[in-house]
Amino acid sequence: MAYETVIGLEVHVELKTKTKIFCGCSTDFGAEPNTQVCPSCAGFPGTVPVLNKKAVELAVKAGLSLNCEIANYSKFDRKNYFYPDLPKAYQISQYDYPICGKGYIDIDISGESKRIGITRAHLEEDAGKLVHQGSITTTTSSLVDLNRSSVPLLEIVSEPEMRSGIEARLYLEKLRSILLFAGVSDCKMQEGSLRCDANVSVRPYGQAEFGTRVEIKNLNSFKALEKAIEFEAKRHVDAIEDGEELIQETRTWDDEKQVTKSMRTKEDAEDYRYFPDPDLPPIKLNEAFINDIKENLPELPDEAQKRLVEKYNLPNYDASLLTMTPDVLTFFDECMKEYEDAKVVSNWMMGELTRLLNQNNIELSESKINPEHLINMLQLINKGTISGKMAKTVFEEMFNSGKDPEAIIKEKGLVQISDEETLLATIEEVINNNPKVLEDYKAGKEKAFGFFVGQVMKATKGQANPAIVNKLLKEKLNGE
Ligand SMILES: [Zn+2]
Repeated sequence: MAYETVIGLEVHVELKTKTKIFCGCSTDFGAEPNTQVCPSCAGFPGTVPVLNKKAVELAVKAGLSLNCEIANYSKFDRKNYFYPDLPKAYQISQYDYPICGKGYIDIDISGESKRIGITRAHLEEDAGKLVHQGSITTTTSSLVDLNRSSVPLLEIVSEPEMRSGIEARLYLEKLRSILLFAGVSDCKMQEGSLRCDANVSVRPYGQAEFGTRVEIKNLNSFKALEKAIEFEAKRHVDAIEDGEELIQETRTWDDEKQVTKSMRTKEDAEDYRYFPDPDLPPIKLNEAFINDIKENLPELPDEAQKRLVEKYNLPNYDASLLTMTPDVLTFFDECMKEYEDAKVVSNWMMGELTRLLNQNNIELSESKINPEHLINMLQLINKGTISGKMAKTVFEEMFNSGKDPEAIIKEKGLVQISDEETLLATIEEVINNNPKVLEDYKAGKEKAFGFFVGQVMKATKGQANPAIVNKLLKEKLNGE
């Protein structure tokens, strides 16, 4: 029997505010534990939360960027549960009246556009963090860091409309791009400012009801998300085919072993109780506030992609990669101020630049290369100063050291030899040293020509301009 995987994602993003959602503590990442805490976010009784207006603005901005309906009325609730990283034993969240309602994201899947619905996006506060000595199962003691407690989060819940690990990854990548362009979050998965849980089930094709659903937590990379879903879908199908009963549970992804593991089953899953928060008045937004944010939205990935296709005649594929992050797009746009061939710039960015970023596992902003250096390098190729092959060496050095291309060329002695007199001397020498090959060439052996080119390149340590070598060699051989 053929099965279909059904996936919905719950994504938490930390909103880019300077202070926490209900108090004035700093939200900076990486500070010493418990240095950004006050009685309010530490959950002391008697403290009163005060809503951060900036968090509301950013939530609305995110919602509008995700094509959501923005609620004129929303309110905060207390989600009651007990866990050591949550001293007051409830999390302030939104339950029946979220700030953002239905929306959607379009993803590109092998050239076709697919729309994934967003159910809702609501505001909530983050919890603190437990630091275990060793692993969670073997630790003898755990420490609590409340710096993260009450950092503003937007929880974005998708419809269960994704059908494979790849679709889920594309959705998350697109979601991240949109949030980055909108400027609402820095979306750093490694720092936890973008976190993703996946709900996965399988069902026979054509069946309307969903199968037993499993939630996978702690997916901290795009790759982990894709792999965990694929693993889980296969586990479900195997279980069904073997006649085993699947249980609704929460699982975690073990990146080292590339498997999911059970965390807790339905029996002990929390049955949250929600109560309206009596300390926080409802959020009432007027149209003017929402419209003002709407009118000031920056260019978003879909618009930017369209612009690149229309203005520069780039393929959709190029445009989608160049609009993955605002940094990448800015780099491209900067290049286009000084250079007219968009496809050449795109090729270098999608090829060498992406390769080096992946190899070093860094973001563009962390590399030392800048648009001006890339353009200088391309102009040096056009002038014939360096070959395309040499340029790859220059590019890598620009990426690593941030030096300008001229300095690198000088240091590494990379200048291309285009001077005809110099090249002709080498060509004559190569021909004279290989009389046998010359005979072969005259007897019509095509390979002999390639041999001569190779020898000239070797004699010049790869610095000869191949186009000029070809031209001169042809003239020389055919003239004799
Ligand atoms: Zn605080």
